[in-house]
Amino acid sequence: MSEYYAAIEAGGTKFNCALMNSNREIIELTRIATTTPQETISQVLAFYRPLQALYKIKSLGLASFGPMDLNANSGNYGGIAKTPKPSWSYTPLSQKLNAELGLPVFFDTDVNGAILAEYLWGKAQNSKVAVYVTIGTGVGGGIIVNGHILNGLHHPEMGHMLLPTKEDNNGHCPFHGNCLEGLAAGPSIQKTWQEKAENLADDHPAWQQQVDHIAAFCHNLIVTLGPEKIILGGGVLQKPGLLEKIAPQCEEKLNQYLTLPQTLDEIIVAPSLGDKSGLYGALALAMGHGSHQINC
Ligand code: ADP
Ligand code: ZN
Repeated sequence: MSEYYAAIEAGGTKFNCALMNSNREIIELTRIATTTPQETISQVLAFYRPLQALYKIKSLGLASFGPMDLNANSGNYGGIAKTPKPSWSYTPLSQKLNAELGLPVFFDTDVNGAILAEYLWGKAQNSKVAVYVTIGTGVGGGIIVNGHILNGLHHPEMGHMLLPTKEDNNGHCPFHGNCLEGLAAGPSIQKTWQEKAENLADDHPAWQQQVDHIAAFCHNLIVTLGPEKIILGGGVLQKPGLLEKIAPQCEEKLNQYLTLPQTLDEIIVAPSLGDKSGLYGALALAMGHGSHQINC
């Protein structure tokens, strides 16, 4: 018999809320705009409450935009941490869902959910170490090691890895300037070139720089983690031809230092779960494959 789970992909612009079963089928789905915490959460509750009367929902998985507080000793465990996003700082998101719906809530960041889903059902299957990175409005990433999502004092913030650049190429991160997010996220490309990334021609110099930044980032990940997969997604990677150029550039940077059992274009790949990866991540968490939960 199928088991039912609530799966929430909580994004900066919308919350995708689903009722799913253990076969990854979506039974019910709704999209709720991310406005104020009060308004958004009350709509999420209004979606799930009638479903609880119809289905025996086992648990809720929440794959959320970050930063999330994943420190079990913190009073805000499972909540949104300090964020520039108006009114969402310190919102006790998981706590509230748990208290209001009476369901165990399993939570993690959206990108940690995504790497978990890729590990269970996608490109990272059978990998000892794999990384998922999204380059879009910002840059976020999750790492899985032997089936466990890697979380230390905080969840990985690899979008803020500093990268080498030429002096005239200043990044736009308000904290670090030349980190990957400051150099290569969509809004950073737009600031540098005064044009939306999707409107830049194929032969625009922006793209070679983009390849260079992402290849440097992959180089750093490879020498640090030895990943079998680096899964690169997000809006900026929608640029046709961009992904394919990264492996050769990374190869050049590594300069034959490592002897790898697979080629770099087998390591640096696109995601495989498409637009469902966020919900699959939330489902994977709900099914107990993550490591954070609130269960009162
Ligand atoms: P989010 O990070 O908010 O989830 P996306 O992953 O969709 O959003 O990324 C949005 C960013 O991707 C925008 O900054 C946009 O300029 C950029 N983008 C969208 N489509 C393309 C494209 N075809 N080529 C390059 N950049 C793109
Ligand atoms: Zn930064």
